[in-house]
Amino acid sequence: MFTEEDSDDSSTLLESNDPLYDDVADHNDDAWLKEKLKLVELRSGRQTDAVLSCPMCFVVFTFDCQRHAYYKNQFRAMFVEETCQVVIDQILKCIPEKDQNVVEEQVLHPVRCRQCGVEVAVYDQDEVYHFFNVIHESPYA
Ligand SMILES: [Zn+2]
Repeated sequence: MFTEEDSDDSSTLLESNDPLYDDVADHNDDAWLKEKLKLVELRSGRQTDAVLSCPMCFVVFTFDCQRHAYYKNQFRAMFVEETCQVVIDQILKCIPEKDQNVVEEQVLHPVRCRQCGVEVAVYDQDEVYHFFNVIHESPYA
């Protein structure tokens, strides 16, 4: 027969036996992310708008990006992780619309996830990545 104390012990046991729960790993992951975000703030002088990840395999592409003013699912970044691969030998030409004041056509390269190959961004002549097909999460939420 169980007393109240016995049932408390068994719930603690169940939690510690969960193979997917690791208190130490959880704490280390959190500390690692905070350190990464602190470095971004030092370099950029601001907080990132999001952490961007691959929609297929979930690897992280950048910890330092700015959300597009109008298109809320688009982000620009200059500093990315090695999980992104610019396809230099493939060129996408962006021809400006007539009502825009831009005269020159933009030369862009597609950017793929290095791990799974899905296309996630374009890379422009100013060395800026424009992400559009990504999972975005605020690390400060
Ligand atoms: Zn991927």
